[in-house]
Amino acid sequence: MSRQVIKRRSRGFICVNAHPEGCRLNVERQITAAEQAPPPRERAPRNVLVVGASTGYGLASRIAAGWGYGARTLGIFFERPPDDEKTATAGYYNTVALDQRAKRDDLLAAHINGDAFSDECKREAIEIVRREFSPLDLIIYSLASPKRMHPRTGVVHNSVLKPIGQAYSNRTIELDSEKVVNVTLPPASEKEIADTVAVMGGEDWRIWIDALAKEGLLAPGARTLAYSYIGPEMTWPIYRDGTIGRAKNDLEQTARSLDAFLSPKFGGRALICVNKAVVTQASAAIPVVPLYISLLIKVMSEKGLEEGPIEQMRRLFANFLTARADPKTDDANRLRLDDREMSTDVQAEIARLWPQVTTENLREVTDFAGFQRQFRNLFGFDVEGVDYERPVETDTELPPER
Ligand code: NAD
Repeated sequence: MSRQVIKRRSRGFICVNAHPEGCRLNVERQITAAEQAPPPRERAPRNVLVVGASTGYGLASRIAAGWGYGARTLGIFFERPPDDEKTATAGYYNTVALDQRAKRDDLLAAHINGDAFSDECKREAIEIVRREFSPLDLIIYSLASPKRMHPRTGVVHNSVLKPIGQAYSNRTIELDSEKVVNVTLPPASEKEIADTVAVMGGEDWRIWIDALAKEGLLAPGARTLAYSYIGPEMTWPIYRDGTIGRAKNDLEQTARSLDAFLSPKFGGRALICVNKAVVTQASAAIPVVPLYISLLIKVMSEKGLEEGPIEQMRRLFANFLTARADPKTDDANRLRLDDREMSTDVQAEIARLWPQVTTENLREVTDFAGFQRQFRNLFGFDVEGVDYERPVETDTELPPER
């Protein structure tokens, strides 16, 4: 037992601890939102595997499936448990909260806290699926990782966020000092491009689906989704045309080849779903993106269009995954949840405001306060309803993997 008062500790902008009660309330809020889903329809998935399930889009997907449609979920993630006085990571506490609610609500929710890229984790997942989640109707691949140890070669690949071909300069928020500055990012080397594709591209997704199919664990009509981002042209040099964009192209290529494999064999589908930009640990690390998201939150909120991960995932399930008709895709066969972000009026307003932002007017022209609050919320801090003066139990245990 280790009850203590937890104050936010940061290294630079990043929080290095997490608040269990704040994380619990975040999960509860998402569950409440998911429970407002339209009634289950015949195509609602029953057994769902989410790879990357403890934070961001993966956590929201898991909650939308479980509490929106009663699905049984197996979540895979890589999170640090508590250690003496040190708190666990937010994703760990999120899962503790999810697990407790699932027990109370009589929903089957199992997990593996391990390296999803490894053969060992896949073997363990296959065992659990065979025992309790077979056949799988839906596999969501929502990993965001800075590195991957390749299971065949043992080589550790590190991903980078850099432009390709030439240096890229643009404005960004220096998050620690809250200054609006110009950054220049040097172009990536060929090795850095290849490494980023090895981490965030489609190879591991393919290994997962091949392994599950080989073991006969996919239901007829099984679907698999991986998440991507496109965003406006002004971010393309660092996103779509940069190293991460190359990885996403590879993911899209993998979707096409998995789709060609699943369609004839299982009547299944493999699709890319393009999500809206939201504040997560992964997105905040991309240069230029925090300024873009601070403007996006402001503009979309003013238009009554703002959505976080759970609102996006609720829409994914309601409009695409449980719809009677085959899901509507764009001309590159992708599901689009970024339609509101990419609408002409939202983007025109962001483009108008972008050159006006300065250090002095950052908090008026953009919703940097909202960005900052949402970022702290990810770690369970600044969450409404939490008394941060009260000691809380940090040494909460996640039940053992099943
Ligand atoms: P996130 O950082 O919130 O979540 C990443 C998840 O991956 C966590 O559950 C983490 O535990 C897990 N993970 C990382 N390394 C792992 C490993 N080795 N083994 C097992 N689990 C591991 O990220 P996110 O922003 O939700 O991103 C998820 C996906 O959504 C990514 O593909 C991302 O590109 C995409 N996406 C994000 C945004 C955005 O704005 N955040 C927008 C569109 C698409």
